[in-house]
Amino acid sequence: MISFKRKPLSKVAPVSSELAGRTAIITGSTSGIGLGIAKSFAASGMNVMLNGFGPLAEIELMRKAIEKEFGVGVAYSDADMSKPDEIADMVMRARETFGQVDVLVNNAGIQHVEAIETFPTAKWNAIIAIDLSSAFHGIQAVVTGMKERKWGRIINVASAHALVASPFKSAYVAAKHGLLGLTKTVALETAEFGITANAICPGYVLTPLVEKQIPETAKARGLSNEEVIRDVLLHAQPTKKFVTTEQVGALAVFLCTGAAASITGAALPIEGGWTAQ
Ligand code: NAD
Repeated sequence: MISFKRKPLSKVAPVSSELAGRTAIITGSTSGIGLGIAKSFAASGMNVMLNGFGPLAEIELMRKAIEKEFGVGVAYSDADMSKPDEIADMVMRARETFGQVDVLVNNAGIQHVEAIETFPTAKWNAIIAIDLSSAFHGIQAVVTGMKERKWGRIINVASAHALVASPFKSAYVAAKHGLLGLTKTVALETAEFGITANAICPGYVLTPLVEKQIPETAKARGLSNEEVIRDVLLHAQPTKKFVTTEQVGALAVFLCTGAAASITGAALPIEGGWTAQ
């Protein structure tokens, strides 16, 4: 009889030690998913640059709280993601503060829900600028340094709406499909430089962005707010549960690890089975 001697289990380094000291910019991280990712990164020992809008005093409290809880460097940039020169400034500031930018998470995003006939052109332009073009400008500003150092992680927070459409979201669906195309192209251009570029595709996460679209969707579809939550939002997700910001944060951390080095150009759904239907 052949006996197999079991090998001792190899000790897997905790994620925190692997990523400690890396620096990440997370756009749109004063709220919702971006804030969740920033906290998950900080918990893994990464320095983070926060970005986004909100009352400055509250943002400063948030910045200090993350710094204190996780013992990492936390900076903040108020750059407007619809303005390419402010995006370049934000990247320069992150470099001045932390030395280099190892990870860029393009997360800032806005939404508007309205039928195509009346969809305001200004909303179309703003959604394309913030949800899509800002990622192009951010990647352009960080990629040379990543290539030189032969390490980098680009994470684009897309959406289930990068994979499938819903009515009344023409600009958002177009921007998110475009963001996935950008992700794949950058992945191919950087594949030999130790850089990965991936799109995270969340389903519904109960953040201010979704809270705001509940009454808009109710109006567009002639439903009550409760019916929108039950029959539109959670109807799309077989789990019947909202995705959490912690779950998205954990996926983003994983994409930064060595274990994920061969995942590039991918669209990673985290949507309770939405797009399996
Ligand atoms: P949110 O409204 O809670 O947060 C959006 C963040 O972006 C905020 O920090 C806000 O200040 C910032 N922001 C908005 N406009 C900006 C600008 N011009 N410049 C800089 N920052 C700006 O929304 P969220 O739900 O956390 O969304 C974050 C990302 O996740 C978006 O790209 C969104 O499309 C995507 N997403 C969200 C869901 C969801 O269900 N919440 C699902 C799929 C994808």
